[in-house]
Amino acid sequence: MQSPKIVLSDFDGTLTDHTELGPVFFEIIDFLKKRKIPLLIVTGRSLSWGHFLLTHVSYLKGVIVEGGGAYLWRDSNGDIHEHGFVSAKDLARLEDATIEIKERYPKIRLSADSFGRKYDRAIELHDLEKKPKTHQEIESFLHASGIHFSCSNVHMNFWAGDISKQNASQWFLDQNKLTKDQLVYFGDSMNDQGMFASFPYTVGVANIASILGKLNPAPVHITKAPGPHGVMERLNQIF
Ligand SMILES: [Mg+2]
Repeated sequence: MQSPKIVLSDFDGTLTDHTELGPVFFEIIDFLKKRKIPLLIVTGRSLSWGHFLLTHVSYLKGVIVEGGGAYLWRDSNGDIHEHGFVSAKDLARLEDATIEIKERYPKIRLSADSFGRKYDRAIELHDLEKKPKTHQEIESFLHASGIHFSCSNVHMNFWAGDISKQNASQWFLDQNKLTKDQLVYFGDSMNDQGMFASFPYTVGVANIASILGKLNPAPVHITKAPGPHGVMERLNQIF
């Protein structure tokens, strides 16, 4: 591949070791900063996480959050702005479905970061893994309600409307006059499937191995090392 103009990456499990944010994340930032390659994080995490990342990692110009629900960026004054991709009608449908799930399954908890979410909601995946029957019922309910869902390594996210990591990323590329072949994308989970399908240069970090059989298409390249070590491994090969 030609040298990419921008790096796009998932956050959990890709730039973190499972959930742990460690020194390699900052090595990646330094590596890209030295080469003036921008990094756009494309995460299922909440709007408030996006605020955190933009506030504390000044190299990031923007973040796509909530699985493509919104793009956040910081202007030259340091103020954070938000571009949402979900209509008011779909936000209301999402809220209705969330209330119904809470009523039907009072033991199922929304993720701890759901209070900071606006465009999607999340359920802790380990709660669902303990209750496969409930997991199945919730998926059936979401299907029947026309609510979409996808799993990361930590959450089952659900949303109303046509939001996705790839739609928001394509919007970002258009805004910045970039083409699909000018980016490389890193991911680790089922919620990266759309990105693997939409862009030509995609990388799965080694921990993606357990779901490789379910991915169609699989990422073009799989690293030997997991998580951020895998990202660093591939960046060293590309640049
Ligand atoms: Mg992930």
